[in-house]
This record gives sequence, C-alpha cells and structure tokens, in this order.
Amino acid sequence: MAEGRGARVLDTGFFRRWMSATSAAVDREAAHLTELDSAIGDADHGTNMQRGFTAVTAVLDKEAPDTPGAVLVLSGRHLISTVGGASGPLYGTLLRRAGKALGDAAEVSQEQLADALRTGVAAVAQLGGAKAGDKTMLDALEPAVAALGESFAAAREAAEQGALATVPMLARKGRASYLGERSIGHQDPGATSSALLIAALGQAESGDGAAAAEAS
Ligand code: ADP
Ligand code: MG
Repeated sequence: MAEGRGARVLDTGFFRRWMSATSAAVDREAAHLTELDSAIGDADHGTNMQRGFTAVTAVLDKEAPDTPGAVLVLSGRHLISTVGGASGPLYGTLLRRAGKALGDAAEVSQEQLADALRTGVAAVAQLGGAKAGDKTMLDALEPAVAALGESFAAAREAAEQGALATVPMLARKGRASYLGERSIGHQDPGATSSALLIAALGQAESGDGAAAAEAS
C-alpha cells in the first residue's frame, strides 16, 4: 500500500486538472487512437475523443462547477451529448456515475475516488454488456480501478498493461467484434484512450494537467 492514500485530499481543482490533462493527452494521441480504430473499427476514435474532451474543458470553464462530483457529472453529460460513437455514452456514463457517487462533498479522499470510479466502471460494463477479456475499454479500466487503492502510478501501470493485453484478444463487443478473428493482433482503441484517462490522474495531482492545458 502506498503512503497516505486516505490522507490525501482531492479538491475541485484536482478534478478540473484531471479533465484538462485528459483533454491534452487526447489531443496529443488523437492520430494514434484513430489509427488503432482504423484497423478494427471505423477510424473515428481519436476525433470522437477530441470532440468530447474539447467540449468538456469548454463547459468546465464556462460553468465552473464547484464540487468534485459536479465536475464529473457535467463532464459525463457533455461526453454523452457531443460524442456520436459508442465511446461517448460509455465514457459519459463512467464519469457521470462516478460523479454521482461522490455526492456534493467539497473534497474527497483518494479512496473515495477509487470507490466512485469502481461504481462508474460497473455502470460501463452494465451499459455495454461487456466483461473483461472482450477487448474493450474495460480491459484497461477494470485493472486500473483495482489498482487505484494503491496509487495513481499503480493505476496507470495497470491501465497501460491492460490496454497492451487487448492485442491478442478476440473482440466480442462493439464494431471490432464484426471482424471476428481478424480483430486479433490489434490493440483496442478504447482501452488505449482509457489508459490516457487514468494516466491523467497522476498529471492532475502534480499540476501538470493545468500546465499542459495552458500550453496547448
Ligand atoms: P464507435 O465504435 O461507435 O466508432 P469509438 O470508435 O469512439 O466508437 O469507440 C470504440 C471503442 O469503444 C472500442 O475500442 C471499445 O473500447 C469501446 N467499446 C465499444 N463497444 C463497447 C462495449 N459494448 N462495452 C465497452 N466498450 C465498448
Ligand atoms: Mg470508431
């Protein structure tokens, strides 16, 4: 167990930096995400994610929600309304449900964030009907939330390993499943973007998220 996980307090600013850092990472990796989606999907995952997170950062600036839960609920709602692909409702549900689980607390512990994200990931599994091993974003998200009780760094490592582990999998959900055996040998785009979302937690903590957002 990492030092002081329960003691560390995450405020509204942390959650805004998390969304900014995710948006910056998605901008940086958009071409790669689309390239992965062109192999086993319809080549729009990078643009879908960019459209969604650009809308998220814009609405967070405009409405300035004042609790961690409100940041995530507003972000989730905007992903659902701006992203046409399957990933919009799925990521939107993840953030909205996690935000609801945080309630209206002004600050939350890392443990509360881990619990809330576990709730969000369970909602994604329910909405999409997928489970671990189906070659979807869940293959990165599930190990990540399991490791989140330990540290952000452990969660990042688990998400990145989870995304890599999708390469030999046969897709059982989403567009990639239409390819059957031909989906084998390619990394899942949604698992790859999920690893960016999880890695952004560590950047938000160190304040890199705000710096990255300002620099872009
Ligand atoms: P679309 O497939 O509609 O073009 P995107 O390209 O934006 O949407 O997102 C594709 C990603 O969404 C996939 O790589 C996969 O990770 C994820 N995905 C698709 N269907 C599901 C599902 N039923 N459950 C979980 N994740 C899914
Ligand atoms: Mg697609």
